[in-house]
Amino acid sequence: MTTHPIPIDSQEPVAQSLRQAGLRPTPQRLSVYRYLKATASHPTAQQVYEALAPEHPALSLATVYNTLETLVGLGLINALGAAGDDAVHYDGDTRPHINLACMQCHRVIDLQSESVSALQAEVSAHSGYLLLGARVLYYGVCPACQVIRDE
Ligand SMILES: [Zn+2]
Repeated sequence: MTTHPIPIDSQEPVAQSLRQAGLRPTPQRLSVYRYLKATASHPTAQQVYEALAPEHPALSLATVYNTLETLVGLGLINALGAAGDDAVHYDGDTRPHINLACMQCHRVIDLQSESVSALQAEVSAHSGYLLLGARVLYYGVCPACQVIRDE
């Protein structure tokens, strides 16, 4: 066992959720969660791995994948579709909103929408589902990439 500078707060809600899902709340797994919650970049598993690997040398891509999928299943993060890059993008913001993916630069941005909030409330009320997440993903070519394309 290697020691690690980031203390594990066993009372942190995500730590309890991971335990309930049968995963030990290791520093690596908590870092995956915290990273997703802190970034607006909608990273892929590979990008999460590359961002965290320097500070977690023992981290594996498989651990990142497993942790992300577990967090999706718990409703703590959302899994979005691919953005023209054949890789699932993840979103730490689980509040209802629209995601916009650029098929050329593969960036995903957020767009707030009252209609989406209303739609989620409607789906919840009419289905009786306990909603864990949603994929509201529009895709196209972002303004910056349209300029490049026209040149
Ligand atoms: Zn773009």
